[in-house]
Amino acid sequence: MAGSAWSCTIRRTLRKGACCPDDTRSSALVDPAETCDDFLPEALRFRSPAPLVDIGANLTHESFARDLDAVLARARMAGVTHLILTGTDREHAEQAVELARRHTGLYATAGVHPHDASRWDPALQGAMRDLHQQPEVVAVGECGLDFNRNLSTPAEQERAFEAQLGLAVESGKPLFVHERDAGKRMREILHAWRDDIGDAVIHCFTADRDTLYGYLDLDLHIGLTGWLCDERRGHHLRELVGEIPLDRLMVETDCPYLLPRNLPAKLKGRRHEPALLPWIVREIAHWRNIGEAELARATTDTARAFFRLAAADGLPDAGAHQQEND
Ligand SMILES: [Zn+2]
Repeated sequence: MAGSAWSCTIRRTLRKGACCPDDTRSSALVDPAETCDDFLPEALRFRSPAPLVDIGANLTHESFARDLDAVLARARMAGVTHLILTGTDREHAEQAVELARRHTGLYATAGVHPHDASRWDPALQGAMRDLHQQPEVVAVGECGLDFNRNLSTPAEQERAFEAQLGLAVESGKPLFVHERDAGKRMREILHAWRDDIGDAVIHCFTADRDTLYGYLDLDLHIGLTGWLCDERRGHHLRELVGEIPLDRLMVETDCPYLLPRNLPAKLKGRRHEPALLPWIVREIAHWRNIGEAELARATTDTARAFFRLAAADGLPDAGAHQQEND
C-alpha cells in the first residue's frame, strides 16, 4: 500500500518509451480482437514474453469492485498468470482469501499493515493466526515498519510487526514486508529474527544501496514496482536493479497505487492494474541490460519458489517456459 500515488491528480506530458528509447525488446502488443473490452488503450495492451507473477496486487481495493473480472481477464491477456493479493488488515485479508477461492491463479497474504499497527490486539492476532492456516494464504503480511507517515507510532508498529514475525514462525509461511524510511530498524529486527523466520520479501523496495545490501546480506528477497519508472524519485533504483541476484528478485504492481509515470499512453482514471506489469518488467530488464523474457522467467521462477506456488497449482516448470519462448 503506497497511499498518495492513487490520489495523485498531477497531469503531465507522457513521452512514448521515455526510459527505453532504443529498446527493441518491447513486449508484443495484444491483438485487440482478443481483448475483453477497450478499457486499456491499444498502446497499453502489453503481452509478456513469458508468464509473470504479480506478487503485490491490492485487488480488494474499492476501485476494483466494479470490474474485477475484466481486470483479471486483462491480466491474463498480458501474461500475468498468477497474482498474490495483498491482505493489509483483517477485512482485506478475508476478502483476498475469498477471491483466491473463486479464481484460479489468485492467492492471498494476511497481515496488518504498519499504518494500522495501533489496532493490534490478541483478538486480531488470533484472527490472523486462523487466516494463516488457510491454503489460499501464501504469506504472512503485509506487515512491517513505515516511519514515513507514522500513522501508528513507531512503538506500535514494532510491536505488531514482531508479533507477526512470531506468527510467521508458527505457520512456517514466508513474510511479505513493507518498509518505508525505516531501513535501519528493519534490518536490526530482522537480524534478530533471521534464524527463526523463513523467506521474507521487502516488497516495493525503494531505499538506497546500503539498505539493499543490508537486506541481501540477510538473505531477503526484493520486490520491485514501477517506482523506477518515476523520473523524479526512481533514478537511484535504475543503478541498483542490476545488483539484485535474479533468484532474489520479484516484480509487482502494488496496484491500484504506483501507476508507472512513463507509460506510452494515458490511462483513464489513472488506476494501476496487473495487466501493466509487463511494462515494469521491460523497464527493469532495460536497466539490468538483460532480455525481457529472461527477466520474466527468472522472476516467475523466484516467485513460484518463494510462495511455493508450484505445489499449489502446477505452474509449468521453468524448462517448459524456456522452450516455448526461446
Ligand atoms: Zn506496502
